Amino acid sequence: MAGVDLAFSCRCGTLKGVLHSVSPTTGSHVKCYCCDCQAAAHHLGAAEVLDEHGGTEIYQTIPAEIELTEGAEKLACMRLSPKGLMRWYASCCNSPLFNTLASAKLAFVGVHVRACEKNAEAFGPLVAVVNTGGAIDPPENLKDFGMRRAIWGFVRRNLGAKLRGRTENFFFDANRNPIVTPYVLTLEERRAATPK
Ligand SMILES: [Zn+2]
Ligand SMILES: [Zn+2]
Repeated sequence: MAGVDLAFSCRCGTLKGVLHSVSPTTGSHVKCYCCDCQAAAHHLGAAEVLDEHGGTEIYQTIPAEIELTEGAEKLACMRLSPKGLMRWYASCCNSPLFNTLASAKLAFVGVHVRACEKNAEAFGPLVAVVNTGGAIDPPENLKDFGMRRAIWGFVRRNLGAKLRGRTENFFFDANRNPIVTPYVLTLEERRAATPK
């Protein structure tokens, strides 16, 4: 299996695990500047996952590559709206950890790079920077790129996971419901957390 194994952890160290097969070819290293990612971080009191312009660094891979080793019972989920991305975090210390889609059938997870052991070589350079319109005080050279490449990466990994029977997805139960009921922010909470 290509790539390396990297440890990840919530801020307080209660929830821990291993991200398997990390490499620039097995996953996609991306950065998102959208207001929702920033709002999610602010709502959790975890602004340190954002860079100075509000960007969130994510490594996109398949759920089968994630192994929770400790504190799995602390895994919680929030959504900024009833149909928003599922944003998984550790409830012990409100650390953002993973983003998934709402469907258990799609092998997709975005892992917060800031929660992982540092290893620039394993993640590789950013292949996509998206939603720079949401960036705070963006430098002139900050521009979107690589969206198509990131989408293609997802399509390829999703197909590969199906072909190789690696579709296990611990975020969902046998009935394809999320293992914990996501908390949906109220409009007021969302507004309060959204920058600008
Ligand atoms: Zn914690
Ligand atoms: Zn975003």
